[in-house]
Amino acid sequence: MSRAATVPLVQVSIDRIVSEGHDVKTFVLEPATEPASKRLNYLAGQFLTLRLPVPADRPVMRSYSISTCPVSDPRLAVTVKRSPGGPGSNWLFEQAAPGMTLDVLPPAGYFTLDGADGEVLLFAAGVGITPLYSLCKYALAASDRKVYLHYSGRHRDATPFATALEHLERSHPARMRLDLWMTGTHGRLDGTTVRNILATADAPTVYVCGPAGYQAMVIDALVAAGHPRGSIRTESSGPAPRRP
Ligand SMILES: Cc1cc2nc3c(=O)[nH]c(=O)nc-3n(C[C@H](O)[C@H](O)[C@H](O)COP(=O)(O)OP(=O)(O)OC[C@H]3O[C@@H](n4cnc5c(N)ncnc54)[C@H](O)[C@@H]3O)c2cc1C
Repeated sequence: MSRAATVPLVQVSIDRIVSEGHDVKTFVLEPATEPASKRLNYLAGQFLTLRLPVPADRPVMRSYSISTCPVSDPRLAVTVKRSPGGPGSNWLFEQAAPGMTLDVLPPAGYFTLDGADGEVLLFAAGVGITPLYSLCKYALAASDRKVYLHYSGRHRDATPFATALEHLERSHPARMRLDLWMTGTHGRLDGTTVRNILATADAPTVYVCGPAGYQAMVIDALVAAGHPRGSIRTESSGPAPRRP
């Protein structure tokens, strides 16, 4: 039985919708009722599953990573990339509006910060930045750990939160390092670069989020360099791969 069938839904209302560049929007949410507020408590890196009325008699459930930080952001938000022809993301882009109420499943997921010491090493590509932006803000706000974020995007307009991340790096010069890797200029990230980054970090756990091919390449490079597979955490960032 699906989680949607067993876990009661929570009502949220859309507070604001913010454009994050080409075909990416952030939906800032707030609890629609007082009891909803407790059921929306979340850990950095978790996701929310939205019930979207597309159409109203056949709603779809779509999961989106939370892009905010539970200790430094006042409200919870998810960040969505439009999938061409995809019913859920296109409904959010075209029909969703501030003030509208949506049903969601409470936050869930295990892509959360380990309890260890040492550096927090993050690899993101495209909209895969969403849970890593949350983890990055949380590690800086709630611990004294160093954070290294390697973030790939086709071009500046396809790297949501780039400006905010640069600002975070400037505000934490001794603790945060950001590598913005524009694939339009540098080409795709390769295994040698991943191995070099790993060699300079003292990171118990590595977090990876991006398209399937990107994740596979980063994981292979990390494992080949001796990092235990069990200490690499991954999260989905896009539609599930189609069955042949
Ligand atoms: C844990 C988790 C976290 C996620 N976090 C994020 C996030 O932070 N941000 C984000 O943007 N997304 C995220 N996703 C992906 C998100 O849940 C949706 O899958 C995504 O928005 C696409 O949904 P959709 O309804 O628009 O399109 P879908 O219905 O999923 O379709 C996706 C694409 O496939 C095409 N398609 C679908 N079915 C067929 C078919 N039978 N034949 C041919 N083409 C087909 C559609 O036209 C569309 O282009 C996450 C997913 C998971 C599981």
